[in-house]
Amino acid sequence: MKQYKVIVIGAGFSGICMGIKLRQMGIDDFVILEKAQGLGGTWRENTYPGAECDIPSALYSYSFEHNDKWEYKWSGQRQILKYQQDTAAKYRLNDNIQFGTEVKASTFDAQDNRWLVETSQGEQIVAQHLVAGVGQLHHPATPKFAGQDQFRGHQFHSAQWQHDVDLRGKRVAVIGNAASAVQFIPEIARDVAHLTIFQRSANWVIPKVDKPYTRFDQWVSKHFPPITKLYRFGLWLRGEGVVLPAIRGNRLARWILHTWNRRSLKEHISDPELREKLTPAYPVGAKRILFSDNYYPALARENVHLETEPIERFTEHGIRYGKDQQANFDVIIYGTGFKTNPFLAPMHITGLDGQTLHESWREGAHAYFGVATAGFPNLHMLYGPNTNLGHNSIIIMIEAQVAHITRCIQRLDDRSLAAMDIKPEVEASFNQALQQRLGALAFSKVENSWYMDGGKITNNWAGSTQEYRRRLRKIDWQHYNYRPIAN
Ligand code: NAP
Repeated sequence: MKQYKVIVIGAGFSGICMGIKLRQMGIDDFVILEKAQGLGGTWRENTYPGAECDIPSALYSYSFEHNDKWEYKWSGQRQILKYQQDTAAKYRLNDNIQFGTEVKASTFDAQDNRWLVETSQGEQIVAQHLVAGVGQLHHPATPKFAGQDQFRGHQFHSAQWQHDVDLRGKRVAVIGNAASAVQFIPEIARDVAHLTIFQRSANWVIPKVDKPYTRFDQWVSKHFPPITKLYRFGLWLRGEGVVLPAIRGNRLARWILHTWNRRSLKEHISDPELREKLTPAYPVGAKRILFSDNYYPALARENVHLETEPIERFTEHGIRYGKDQQANFDVIIYGTGFKTNPFLAPMHITGLDGQTLHESWREGAHAYFGVATAGFPNLHMLYGPNTNLGHNSIIIMIEAQVAHITRCIQRLDDRSLAAMDIKPEVEASFNQALQQRLGALAFSKVENSWYMDGGKITNNWAGSTQEYRRRLRKIDWQHYNYRPIAN
């Protein structure tokens, strides 16, 4: 049986960062288990046309690994994946990644204080620390509709794009109109014969004002690190200074975003009825704000129709919707997002006294700063419960979590201890306070979103990235129970 000091699950942004920081603290005894045959996580999986990041790349990249080669302010999927690949290669991580290895189950052995990991390939691996870096958005959610199997055309999810299906000249339906859909709709609208978008709720769309970086921009970025840092700081400040206050209900910040959205709507959509359909009915920031320069212009095209009547059922040749209306399609594309709950599913994780994560999170996932949960010693989570953001780059949160986990590992080593487990009462009071704060934010002003599980906000952090970093850095080590090394 293979043994390591640390097992990291997932080779996306989280797992790569964890590997780099373990190496930098002198730990080479780790493995990153990755179910796919390549690294990159969401940026390897999502290859739909127009896939790009909606956070500027200078911020959606590691603070310690500047890239002066970004071609656009908001980079495309390929360039982001290349950045991940180059970074992993630079820090010699590839030898530590075991590809094609999916974790099926993981059990804490309380006698030896170690995690026993079982893979779908039948392998067993043990480690003192288990770090889950599996992300929140990787299990495509495809809603069920009556008659779905009868449809004779092609149907696929945006995260499983069928590139061999030629959309040129086809009648296409898209279900959903959020972050993924607003990126691929403008790309495919140009080629298809006709496109119908089935919209359930209108979203807040703000212009990106994207443009390619010039050679001069890239030169400055390479040779003047202080300017680059200042630029990154400015991007960060926009999220903290405008979007976060809007989520908190600040009237000025909301007015800025409202005005921006309304102006863009007015500029691109001349039909008042269409404009009305595209006007969101929920507070800005309650769901992810969408950034796009070309979504509204795509909707103004002659061959694009926005349908707001609900889908009733699929038929052999298309979709029946509203009151007995029917449209025929060759292809149906789901831009319907991801199953974000339960966290860490479908892995079966068992902690102390046979308790499973599934049982512990029956009423919605919870954790202490998203990184630890009581009864699961040395299970460290990256991008865990309540650490998603609606206003800034998740890489900031991941870096703070990785720094915290390395401190935990160091602390145990320095004191010759085997494991640490957050005290249940500490986690409970942390979550009580967190939920109270979340209740006052825009996230709570909609009935449903991927930020929630059964009405409880399980995915999002309630404050600024600065607050999160500061509090995690100053964590009280008395908040943990410690387990000695077994004799
Ligand atoms: P999403 O935000 O969950 O949106 C799903 C869309 O499908 C919504 O418009 C939703 O309508 C609709 N929908 C779901 N079920 C439906 C049903 N049964 N009938 C009709 N419509 C239905 O998914 P996403 O667009 O894939 O984005 C998910 C997250 O991925 C984003 O919030 C973002 O964090 C991330 N993402 C990031 C980037 C990036 O640039 N970094 C790009 C893409 C995605 P309702 O709004 O009415 O529920």
